[in-house]
Amino acid sequence: MKEGKWWVGNGTNIPLDHPAWFQTPTLHNPNLITGTVADLIDQATHSWKPDLVRYLYPPSISSEILSIPISKTDSVTDSLMWKFSNSGDFKVKKAYEILLEDANMSANATLRPLVIPDAVWNTLWKVRLPLKICNLVWKVIHDSLPTFQTLKGRGIPIAALCPFCDCDEESSSHLFLHCHFARACWYGSALALHTSSLGPITVQQWIINSISRHQRLDESDLESLQRTFITLWAIWNHRNRVIHEGVTPDPMNVILTSQNLFCRYHEIYQKHYCTEHRISRQKIMEQGFQGQWSIILKISGVKHGRKKRAAFAYEARNRQGTVVFYGCSSSAANSVPVALLEGLREAAVTSFRLQYNQILVLSNCNFLVQLFNTGKVPDWEGKTLFADLQSLKQRGFCLSFRWIPAFVLVNVYNMAAMASSAPMHFQWPQHLTL
Ligand SMILES: [Zn+2]
Repeated sequence: MKEGKWWVGNGTNIPLDHPAWFQTPTLHNPNLITGTVADLIDQATHSWKPDLVRYLYPPSISSEILSIPISKTDSVTDSLMWKFSNSGDFKVKKAYEILLEDANMSANATLRPLVIPDAVWNTLWKVRLPLKICNLVWKVIHDSLPTFQTLKGRGIPIAALCPFCDCDEESSSHLFLHCHFARACWYGSALALHTSSLGPITVQQWIINSISRHQRLDESDLESLQRTFITLWAIWNHRNRVIHEGVTPDPMNVILTSQNLFCRYHEIYQKHYCTEHRISRQKIMEQGFQGQWSIILKISGVKHGRKKRAAFAYEARNRQGTVVFYGCSSSAANSVPVALLEGLREAAVTSFRLQYNQILVLSNCNFLVQLFNTGKVPDWEGKTLFADLQSLKQRGFCLSFRWIPAFVLVNVYNMAAMASSAPMHFQWPQHLTL
């Protein structure tokens, strides 16, 4: 029942066991006097009782509840705004129908002849990721997610258009694989997949194939499946935010979220696994390197052909996704890679001053990515810049590179293009204390 939005007044009209309210594992608690949502609300301050909510519900649900705004003025009466009915009101009958459908769906799923090899199931649950992510993959394989197409198939009168592209019907295969939005996410991910060349495969078959290909579950299999699952989860999560919170679809958001989650989970599970297997701390540090980044830096360079002026621009975000610094500048460099190195040095110095010592650099310049990933010293005009960066590295500064396609760099590219057409130098924040 994630397709409705609650309007909460004082909560007295919403029974805690309302089918569209959140399911509680237990309702036996002395604090639950009325058995309605009112019990969860501090009526004096019109705010949730966070401790009680967190005590009663698992973390994902409690944070969802705590994010529901409560009317402070008593102008709102408890109601469920129902996304799929024309008036926006909650239709109890419809809700029950869907709940029943949901129940039938899961019953059918277990009765359905199992064409999915056992090994695929076994592998799915061995992928070291939080259960919520594996669960989502499980649902995608069963095609039991409430996509618009599925809901429409259950007789709910909705325009079933994909919220990302607004032109095709939102089936799970379209949403996760064939929509140009999904293509951008897969292509921009560390997996750099061209899902456009897949042909008319369903997402179910595609996931089964991926799992089958990585059944050995060695380090690279594991990484590949972790990234695939996380990206699926991030696409679904973003889709829900677009629908329910009015967020503008942005593949970069999915790419960064996936990258961030992968780093976090990979590190956590790696550590856990290593401790179990008594692998030395040193080895964890080496293997966990990708997981240590504190800044993600987008950088782009441009050379203006006619004006013969190069330029660079960069933008750094912390793990929470907040921009912590950015800059753009014209450059006297003869080539884009050198301008990029110049920008990278400026960004690295800023980052070092702000005490962010691990940068994950996203660039579409193959040359730069290869240069750093091989550690070869260039014998060209960028040598000094490269040496500066190397010296920062010796002071404990870590740079890690990842190639990404140009379209995810579009904002920094535009800044660089501006600085290539007219001389300029701009940095934010401007005055950094050393
Ligand atoms: Zn679409």
